[in-house]
Amino acid sequence: MNPFINLGIRHDIVNAISELGFENPTPIQEQSIPVLLTGSNDFVGLAQTGTGKTAAFGLPLLELLDFEENHPQALVLCPTRELCLQITNDIKNYSKKMGNVNVVAVYGGASISDQLRQIRRGVQIVVATPGRMLDIINRKAIDFTKVKFVVLDEADEMLNMGFQEDIDSILSTTPDTKKTWLFSATMPAEVRRIAKKYMNEPFELTMGTKNTGNANIEHEYYIVRARDKYAAFKRIVDFNPDIFGIVFCRTKIETQDIAESLMKDGYNADSLHGDLSQQQRDKVMKRYRERNLQLLIATDVAARGIDVNDVTHVINYSLPDEVENYTHRSGRTARAGKTGVSISIINAKELGKIRQIERGLGKKFVKAEIPTGFDVCEKQLFSIVHKIHDVEVNEQQIEQYLPRIMEEFKDLTKEDFIKRFASIEFNRFLDYYKNAPDLNAPIEEGRFDRERGERGERGERAPRGEGGKSEYTRLFINLGSVDEFNRGDLLGYICTNGKISGRTVGKIDVKGVYSFFEVPNAESEAVINNFKGVEFKGREVRIEVSGEGTSTTRSGGGERREGGHRGGERREGGGGYNRSGGGERREGGNRGSGNPGNAGFRDFSGKRREDRPERKRRF
Ligand code: AMP
Repeated sequence: MNPFINLGIRHDIVNAISELGFENPTPIQEQSIPVLLTGSNDFVGLAQTGTGKTAAFGLPLLELLDFEENHPQALVLCPTRELCLQITNDIKNYSKKMGNVNVVAVYGGASISDQLRQIRRGVQIVVATPGRMLDIINRKAIDFTKVKFVVLDEADEMLNMGFQEDIDSILSTTPDTKKTWLFSATMPAEVRRIAKKYMNEPFELTMGTKNTGNANIEHEYYIVRARDKYAAFKRIVDFNPDIFGIVFCRTKIETQDIAESLMKDGYNADSLHGDLSQQQRDKVMKRYRERNLQLLIATDVAARGIDVNDVTHVINYSLPDEVENYTHRSGRTARAGKTGVSISIINAKELGKIRQIERGLGKKFVKAEIPTGFDVCEKQLFSIVHKIHDVEVNEQQIEQYLPRIMEEFKDLTKEDFIKRFASIEFNRFLDYYKNAPDLNAPIEEGRFDRERGERGERGERAPRGEGGKSEYTRLFINLGSVDEFNRGDLLGYICTNGKISGRTVGKIDVKGVYSFFEVPNAESEAVINNFKGVEFKGREVRIEVSGEGTSTTRSGGGERREGGHRGGERREGGGGYNRSGGGERREGGNRGSGNPGNAGFRDFSGKRREDRPERKRRF
């Protein structure tokens, strides 16, 4: 039987959501639907965006309301127009096989008369942003006296945006008998307070640990010098050929500058910020949703409520002012059970902020290293190889050309041919990244010690990728990302086969066809021996002491490169590869400080009025 039926959802709704691809309930749906279906509880759900929250409250609403009656019975309040439209649309989709379900979206920036007309025609579910809702209430154009359920979605965001008073006024027009369901990604004290104010012994559901954020998100940070930030950012992008990302900046101007620089450099990028008209914002979002944009550069405010699946990376080009904002930013990736990476590009002075976010989330961040130019070339090469391997061939169309193609290539061996084919793209990267400098900022040992001390971790084994004084040996292993290992996978693999505890493994650096990892000096020989005879997919697994020397004192991590395995392969030049899919990539600047494309944003002091971030509260 369909698991949604087991949860108590009726057939016509289950049929509709099956068509949307909902086969199994998400954890939050599994746990909240039975509770909400009783209709007799107030409810607090602590859940990230992208976990299936909308159906978690939307499906019970459809079960509980009386659709024979045409008056408002449920009010859903949410922070943004985008989310309002999304929820309305979702509920309409869930109910498309039911009769007489009327859902109205009420939000600012659109014609109020259309919304009033829809309300007059009769509506059972109103989905609204607080400002416009209050406007309509003040016009006495809606009657909430028979409302049975109020949903406060993304309550933390609504409070962040200053909607507290509007929410109070709106709720005062609803009857005391209604039930209130509150959803929030985080539970700051303000949300606790409104939960207390509006609710009576609510049923509380926490998905994951409090404020932990989505477990499927890997958090990484890179330490670079301020002047290298843009080049480092581009290198990270180039190292992830299939990136579909949202890049967060603190100000509209920074957002605009970076988007412009990226566009100039040939990337598929555009900006989303408050100075754009609604129409312009819709246009940008449409392009992003349809994947005509690979990178969306946004401010926190503009990006609220963005619900795009399959975002692979969130990049914090500038760290947010508040931990909650970090949670919201990173929650744009790893939606609907997928995994994602949240990257922060910082300078050494901002490490304290990272520690604070780590504490807020109760989660350790991984210090990663800006890939070398060679790393990027290698990654891109294998991306090309995979693309060539997986490309769909239009047999019918290509057939007519085959004899001519064969004729052209007749003097090439298969190997020559493959090499040339792959080189078409690869050469661009080699050219671009030849002699690319190391962009990782050196970190003073003392600074790290202070960091550790502050966190009360002195004496503990330093976490992967960070400072500490223990003696570690860096080992090379001939497995890497092309074998579909990420850091976590590799750690598991090393522990199982090397017979070593995960707690003692140091920094892990996954490269393309190989990786590096650190183990305490005393254990390195045993690990190497334990790997003797181990095979991966029929291939012998090789572990060697990294060419850099047998023993390293672990320092900031940022300074060390691959030594022996990489010697002489590093390229010169300033990074910044132009990637416009089309092939007409421009070699626009980004070399050294004289790059006209990005000179503007580097000099931002944060003092210009319009460049001030919108949030006041600081870390
Ligand atoms: P939400 O948290 O409600 O914004 O949902 C995030 C995404 O997950 C949306 O695209 C939903 O359509 C999708 N989704 C929600 N529930 C399910 C489910 N049970 N199975 C598959 N996808 C789902």
